[in-house]
Amino acid sequence: MGVRLGVLALQGDVSEHIRGFEAALSDIGEGLGCVVPVRRPADLEGLLGLAIPGGESTTISRLIQKNGLYQPLVNFKGGIFATCAGMVLMATRVDDPRVKPLGLLDMTVQRNAFGRQKESFEADIAVRGLDHPYHAYFIRAPVATRNEKGVEVLARIDAGIVAVRKVPHMALAFHPELGNDLRLHRMFLEGIGIQNSR
Ligand code: GLN
Repeated sequence: MGVRLGVLALQGDVSEHIRGFEAALSDIGEGLGCVVPVRRPADLEGLLGLAIPGGESTTISRLIQKNGLYQPLVNFKGGIFATCAGMVLMATRVDDPRVKPLGLLDMTVQRNAFGRQKESFEADIAVRGLDHPYHAYFIRAPVATRNEKGVEVLARIDAGIVAVRKVPHMALAFHPELGNDLRLHRMFLEGIGIQNSR
């Protein structure tokens, strides 16, 4: 069957996300799935899931509005897999007025929550639903400081919440698209009804 996934391709690590979704689809045996870049509202048609990549949330927010994608994204019926800057965009409240968040996950997000000393780091974190730790890459990462209305915390570190889910959406402060561990992609795909078909 032809599963169609998209990656918001305005700014950020788009190609890594395309590769990540492709790897996850082939890993679960969805050989006929396809992953397309999304730049205009019409590109969202027929998509079951969409990744909003890491990058610069202020820039992505500006380009979302410029390209007429704000309301189409708010109304998008599929699931969203949001990482880092994407997590910022999914929130209801962000500590930076330059970002107009989509408000799809009821949470408060703080941008660049780790300060200059710790702009980038790697950590093995416990994630709810995974049986062993996940090696996570944090790059100028945000954290959520407050979650409400059914937004489930999947992972938390000292600084705050770094992974959340409200099916069909997931938001991660780190970058699963940069490693080879596909467990979080798989969890997202299961949430939008794409199961292992092997
Ligand atoms: N600091 C960036 C922002 O708030 C996110 C960084 C990233 O996506 N790696 O937009």
